[in-house]
Amino acid sequence: MTPIKINIPVSRSERIKEIKALFPHHTGANLREDWVGGRTEGLKRLSNIKPERYEKSRNYLNGEVTYLSPYLRHGCISLAEAITFAQEKSTRGNDKLLFEFAWRDYWRQIWYHAGDRIHSEMEAPKVELKRNSLPRIVSEGNTKLPCIDHFVNTLRETGYLHNHARMWLSSYLIHWLGVDWKIAANWMHDMLLDGDQASNTLSWQWVASTFGSKPYFFNQENLSKYTGNQLCNGCQAVCPFKKSYEALDASLFRPTTAPARITSPDYSPINFKHPGNASVILFTDEMLSPAHALYQRNQKKIFVFDPIHYKNWSLNRLQFMADCLAEMPEVEVWTGDTLALLEILGCGHVETQSTPNSMLRHLLSKCSVTYIEEPAIYSDVTKEKLHARGLMRFSKYWNFVGEEILKR
Ligand SMILES: Cc1cc2nc3c(=O)[nH]c(=O)nc-3n(C[C@H](O)[C@H](O)[C@H](O)COP(=O)(O)OP(=O)(O)OC[C@H]3O[C@@H](n4cnc5c(N)ncnc54)[C@H](O)[C@@H]3O)c2cc1C
Repeated sequence: MTPIKINIPVSRSERIKEIKALFPHHTGANLREDWVGGRTEGLKRLSNIKPERYEKSRNYLNGEVTYLSPYLRHGCISLAEAITFAQEKSTRGNDKLLFEFAWRDYWRQIWYHAGDRIHSEMEAPKVELKRNSLPRIVSEGNTKLPCIDHFVNTLRETGYLHNHARMWLSSYLIHWLGVDWKIAANWMHDMLLDGDQASNTLSWQWVASTFGSKPYFFNQENLSKYTGNQLCNGCQAVCPFKKSYEALDASLFRPTTAPARITSPDYSPINFKHPGNASVILFTDEMLSPAHALYQRNQKKIFVFDPIHYKNWSLNRLQFMADCLAEMPEVEVWTGDTLALLEILGCGHVETQSTPNSMLRHLLSKCSVTYIEEPAIYSDVTKEKLHARGLMRFSKYWNFVGEEILKR
């Protein structure tokens, strides 16, 4: 696709319209007013975190969660600065928020370590998994189960879903409907404002039991408690969740000896002739902040809405990224093929931030690339120890990093 330079309008309403017009194949709702992208909004949310209230209420649908994930995912604020801020704000015994930030890093370190292997089953399933496709009644939010339809419709309208709702929805799809976890994970990823290959794929695998010791499932009592009964009150549906855990365990799960399903990535060969000696800073979707170290450089900077990465993403996600880019006027924004653009610009040298995203690394494999480190959240020594240890469960990871993440 031939690269085209685009203008990101300063006015938000114009911006929302412009992105919709530029990307007619990206469907879904417009980005809502309460989800403005960018560092300014990310910092505002960070300054509002309440670690003590988070500790007690995070599992409830109306709990005091941070709504920071899209800002962390796009690098509007770094995980390092979120952790430093939370360290200052939380008191001993209220460490849950720091612990959850660590989960984000944990999945990311697994991604660095395992690469594209995260898209295969990390371990053999502990129970029989079916491989059905996603029923339309689910994707259309029309299952007639008010709770499930509410979760799907919230996701479609806002691009956000509370962690507990993600757990219930994924468990329902995998263990009740027998949907292939990978199909469902991709479906959810493409609708999320915070869609992240590691956090998403590995969380789905944790629910499925291919990256954990058992499958995750729930019952109506659990759902009712953490939704404040708002979705169960007056529900007329025949509830598939209204059973004891023992009864559900017996009806949902069968033993299996199936091995882990392994899939290989399907990358096209790179056709790129080293076009020249010019250098450019490539801003990816993980570094959308004017406070980023590379933004301070006096050098040409680009961001590319390249369909190789974004072709399935929802419209509101692209609008969120456009909000972020509106705060970064020094970055030229393009649509189209990244390599074709580098050729047009005569750039054989690219500088960007380190990433576990193998698709991006593959794309840049014929360029000379300098990857700068992501902002660190623990010492180099700890990082080396982690990497030397390789794949591990979260509890082991926490033994390595917990002390440094909790320090205050
Ligand atoms: C099936 C499933 C799919 C998921 N897909 C994604 C995804 O694509 N992108 C994504 O960022 N998160 C994903 N998560 C993790 C989690 O649901 C979201 O990070 C969280 O709900 C975001 O909302 P928040 O910022 O209000 O979270 P808060 O509860 O306020 O947590 C603060 C931050 O901690 C991190 N965090 C919290 N819980 C988790 C977790 N379980 N795993 C990893 N990080 C966590 C996030 O960065 C989050 O922004 C998924 C979880 C499940 C069960």
